[in-house]
Amino acid sequence: MTTGKINVSVDNIFPLIKKFLYSDHEIFLRELISNATDATLKLKHLASIGEAKIELGNPQIEVRIDKAGKKLHITDQGIGMSEEEVKKYINEVAFSGAEEFLDKYKDAGKEAGIIGHFGLGFYSAFMVAGKVEIISKSYQEDTPAVHWSCDGTPEFTIKKAKKKERGTEIILHIADDSTEFLEEQRIRELLLKYNKFMPVPIKFGTRTETLPKPEGAPEDEAAPTREVDNIINNPSPAWTRKPTELEDADYKSFYRELYPMQFEEPLFHIHLNVDYPFNLTGILYFPRLSNEINLQKDRIQLYQNQVYVTDNVEGIVPEFLTMLRGVIDSPDIPLNVSRSYLQADGSVKKISSYITRKVADKLQSLFKEDRAAFEQKWNDIKIVIEYGMLTDEKFFEKAEGFALYPTVDKAYYTFEEFAEKVKPLQTDKDDKLVILYASDTEAQHAYIEAARAKGYEVLLMDSPIVAHLMQKLETSKEKVTFARVDADNLDKLIAKDEPQISKLSETEQDTLKQQIEGVLGEKSAYMVQLEAMDSEAAPFVITEPEFMRRMKEMQQSGGGMFGMGNMPDMYNLVVNTNHPLVGEILQTKTDKKRQRLIEQSLDLARLSKGLLKGEALTRFISRSFEMVK
Ligand code: ADP
Repeated sequence: MTTGKINVSVDNIFPLIKKFLYSDHEIFLRELISNATDATLKLKHLASIGEAKIELGNPQIEVRIDKAGKKLHITDQGIGMSEEEVKKYINEVAFSGAEEFLDKYKDAGKEAGIIGHFGLGFYSAFMVAGKVEIISKSYQEDTPAVHWSCDGTPEFTIKKAKKKERGTEIILHIADDSTEFLEEQRIRELLLKYNKFMPVPIKFGTRTETLPKPEGAPEDEAAPTREVDNIINNPSPAWTRKPTELEDADYKSFYRELYPMQFEEPLFHIHLNVDYPFNLTGILYFPRLSNEINLQKDRIQLYQNQVYVTDNVEGIVPEFLTMLRGVIDSPDIPLNVSRSYLQADGSVKKISSYITRKVADKLQSLFKEDRAAFEQKWNDIKIVIEYGMLTDEKFFEKAEGFALYPTVDKAYYTFEEFAEKVKPLQTDKDDKLVILYASDTEAQHAYIEAARAKGYEVLLMDSPIVAHLMQKLETSKEKVTFARVDADNLDKLIAKDEPQISKLSETEQDTLKQQIEGVLGEKSAYMVQLEAMDSEAAPFVITEPEFMRRMKEMQQSGGGMFGMGNMPDMYNLVVNTNHPLVGEILQTKTDKKRQRLIEQSLDLARLSKGLLKGEALTRFISRSFEMVK
């Protein structure tokens, strides 16, 4: 037996390890299984090139809890280490790695948002163990097995071991403050979190398998069973396979594997696969986003060589795509750095724009291949696309080809198609194309009908960020303006050169205005606006100016002008001077009757806009009964 002192500058690195990585103790298992996996893959590689003359078999990694002995064993059948290698790799390499890591971490760790803690490796075992042993036998013939142990001080002992099979066994003597890692449930949880898709089978305990009954066995006899290894992971998950090998059903079943609690199927998937100028694989799924219950929990997962790192992909995946689900796997994402560094990193930027491009291309091809199916999905995916159009200029340009604008009659157009269709009727006297829209077909029914009566098309724009999108479209397209159907009198919204002729004279109009304002009272919420409209158009209409309303909406959904969200709603009362009823109001002899006519007409206009409520509604109803009596 030899003893020695690990050559480090700090006297005792282990308290440091504990201190700096306090919240993340659980990653020790991921690190040790990663080492075991590397050792196995190295051996496989050596065997495949004829370098290791061995019977490879089907190597696996075993994780075993010895509760009575307070030990956790991680055993692999990989390349193993000779005594020299243990001295070199564990005492020197691993240790300097740990030191270097802690050095970096001391500064970076202060800044919130570190993802993953790769690089600490083997020594992370000391976060949970007071003593660690390594028993290892190299794959090389005639190399004796070796037994290393270290109790958390820089001193270690090394001696010969009896181990016969090649590979490495790591034994952790779990510390008293870490006994959670002796619980089967906890270890299972960690294996499923970090190692569910690692490339070497991981055995954890056994399970009972039911065998078929032998022929002729009696009815009431129980089927025979046997104990089999319980393999906890899927070593070849769908994203590591070629898209050509996979059917739609494979993608769907992988989705269920990723999110076992997710019962709804994804709408479609995108298989990512690039190896230059960076390496990235993955599968992204578009979920139905109308049901947002699991949005927080089931997020995109980031892997490095099939090792789970995090489900916080902020900075790596463009923000608008974080609403998607799935996995990305890339060894090229630096992990032990802060978020702000990550966002400035050149290769991460490239990855992010690659993902954006792939998503845009997929949407374009879905649109092209089966437009009807794409239209059907539109409502469930529009929020991602609209959000992307707002936040990513490149995506905005690409989305021209597949972003859809449905009308209230459920016809779907691209922007260009729609503009082409409505141009003849909806271009105003200043040559501006006016796009009418509704945000709620029920609430704005009367206004939609009025627009239809004039032969206008009305879009249905009802997602929460649509105010921002219209703003963006208005600035990026020439001579285009959006107006909600209730923003003003239609003749004003789409002003034509034809002069409007009023049946009432100027003086009559002044009188009428005074009469109406008199009934409304000083504190009225409505600005009276007299208009010479078609005699068939409604006599009284309440409108809500586009600009103010949209600014308010934009502020409520983030952005827009500061302070607008607190402003009271602004309404106009548009009075159609050409309507017979309005003429009658003016001619009415008695004040009392005139007041009733004005009140009744105003209430009908409010009713149509959904503004008649409470006491005003009760008064309207009793007045109406009075009138029909
Ligand atoms: P890293 O894995 O990042 O190199 P580690 O501290 O985890 O750093 O390990 C140091 C070295 O020890 C590894 O590079 C490897 O050579 C060796 N090693 C660790 N675990 C094993 C194992 N299970 N089998 C064989 N070699 C191992």
